[in-house]
Amino acid sequence: MNITVASHAGFCFGVRRATETVENAIREGKSHIYTLGRLIHNDGYCKSLRDAGVGEISAADIPALCERARAGEAITVVIRAHGEVEPIVKQLQACEAECPTLQVLDCTCPFVEKVRRIAKEHSGEDKAFYLLGTEDHPEVRGILSCADGGIVFSDADHLQRLLADQSGSEMTNKTVSIASQTTQKLSEWKKSLEILKKVYTNAQIFDTICSVTEERQTEAAALAEQSDTMIVIGSRSSSNTLKLYEVCRSKCPHTYLVESVSDLQGIDFGESQTVSITAGASTPRSVIQEVEETMAEQMENFEELLEKSLKTLNTGDVVTGVITSISQNEIHLDLGSKTTGVIVHEKLTDDPSAKLSELFKVGDEIKAKVIKVSDIDGIATLDKTRVDNDANWVKIVEAYENNETLEGRIVEAVKGGVIISVKSVRVFIPASQTGVPKDGDLSSIVGTTQQIKIIEIKEDRKRAYGSIRAILREAKKAEQEAFWNEIEEGKIYDGVVKSLMDYGAFVDLGCGVDGMVHTSELSWKRIRRASDAVKVGDSLRVFVKSFDRERGRISLGYKTEETNPWFVFNNQYSVGDTATVTIVSLMPFGAFAEIVDGVDGLIHISQIADHKIAKPDDVLSVGQSVEAKIVSIDDEKHQVGLSIRALIETPAEEVVEEAAEETPVMYSTDNPEAYQSFEGDEQ
Ligand code: SF4
Repeated sequence: MNITVASHAGFCFGVRRATETVENAIREGKSHIYTLGRLIHNDGYCKSLRDAGVGEISAADIPALCERARAGEAITVVIRAHGEVEPIVKQLQACEAECPTLQVLDCTCPFVEKVRRIAKEHSGEDKAFYLLGTEDHPEVRGILSCADGGIVFSDADHLQRLLADQSGSEMTNKTVSIASQTTQKLSEWKKSLEILKKVYTNAQIFDTICSVTEERQTEAAALAEQSDTMIVIGSRSSSNTLKLYEVCRSKCPHTYLVESVSDLQGIDFGESQTVSITAGASTPRSVIQEVEETMAEQMENFEELLEKSLKTLNTGDVVTGVITSISQNEIHLDLGSKTTGVIVHEKLTDDPSAKLSELFKVGDEIKAKVIKVSDIDGIATLDKTRVDNDANWVKIVEAYENNETLEGRIVEAVKGGVIISVKSVRVFIPASQTGVPKDGDLSSIVGTTQQIKIIEIKEDRKRAYGSIRAILREAKKAEQEAFWNEIEEGKIYDGVVKSLMDYGAFVDLGCGVDGMVHTSELSWKRIRRASDAVKVGDSLRVFVKSFDRERGRISLGYKTEETNPWFVFNNQYSVGDTATVTIVSLMPFGAFAEIVDGVDGLIHISQIADHKIAKPDDVLSVGQSVEAKIVSIDDEKHQVGLSIRALIETPAEEVVEEAAEETPVMYSTDNPEAYQSFEGDEQ
């Protein structure tokens, strides 16, 4: 992109002359310098003058200044390039003549001075002086102040109307002359002359448009015509700048008037290839330079942005974009180009139930792979999961190599297993590795978060296989390690009967470690097999009798002294107590009756009734519950003697004594020897 600066841009001869005059005065050390009005139409330059101590006055301030000068104060008054109205100039000149301390620096541009002379000479009683200009412009006011009845018109149309109004009046008899404000548009001047000449064929024409202005406008028009964008620098209150702007705008619709670099911000250079700069007569060179440099920088940035915006997106490219909007099903990205990036739900996450608004927020930066570009729609369809997968696949492989635990969400049940999304990588978990029982419902774990180990990697196909069971096994192993570290003889565990053999029951102690309770340890009663005492699923409070960590064997005990029936019996009964007993068997010599679970006593036939009976079943039957008195206890042989008769006869002491004499021994069902001995005795 080219930037061209017009050669006739900035200070004209007249303005430069005025500014140099003031700057010289400052350099010479003049103390009280005043400009009559603003020296030039440029805020920045005028401020720099104020900063240098140069004041700005109006015509109303002149008497006071003259007074100060008369008082001996050195004062310098500058008349700007536009000139000043004649009475003011004369007032100043009179004061200057009177007071040597007042100096007037008349910087009226010689071109302006020329028009003032023409106005003076070609106006009067028999003359009609026409001036193309802006009526309230200082230069025009100054020129008119030199004329005797000048007529101002703003443009050709205005002149046409004026001439039409004057038609037939005495004006038509006057000697007509025409001039222009120095900074008027050349085209308007030419149009005006054509109109005037039609009415006044011998009108005197004074072409007073400043050649500098003419050259500036001609050059600007030519530049504008071949530029995509035209910049006119100058003050909006400057006549010549406004004229220059109009000239350029008529040739280039993208013409902008700027007063300083700050105005550049609002300009859209679009796709401009050629940009030209011109400037009004009051624009300092420094401002033009600043604008030019800033534009060059902007162009550089713009070109960069343009290049970026035109960058081509190709399928397979990985791009970075910023999220601009999030909906339920997709997100939109600013890719820094004219193309909008779109990523649908399934290309953002493997989890169909995930809410995009919970995963992302506007402003987030996202990397994604281009999978389709539509230049017509200006849309690039992207896939984030592919980029994530590429990056995360490496992490999956590393986890496999380092036996690391990974966490993910089960997203789908498929044939033969489930899919878990780990770092957006789909990992297959075979059914046997899910922890779900065989023939169980795999969908029951969909949606759950699980920890897994990677158990197999197929790099070529980018397939990973995971296992939840491996995690469970590790956890169990750790638990078992802790169990074995803490086990000790006598330690009590609450376990569950897991399986039964004739010789004992295997009890799960809670962490996959089993112990065995030998059948003889299961009951105080005489049992032949473990199933006589417990069944699978029974909860048992067991204690460790011995263990072998190397062989993983634990011998458990279940019976305790507290559960020993003889212990229970002894705690509950003494000789002389009455007990409610249950007849469990009938023998020729008497009846056995259960007193507590595991302890039976013998009611000798002589103690069954208060009269002689032939056999026990004449009176008793198995299962019958009767009241009996405990008449003897043999702790050594675990035998108890009972008597029903003792509760019938009185006095009791006699019965007890008699029963003790007649009953040789008492029996416990777990003491067959004693039972045998009894039978022997009886025989
Ligand atoms: S534009 Fe022309 S007439 Fe006006 S001050 Fe500059 S040189 Fe003088």
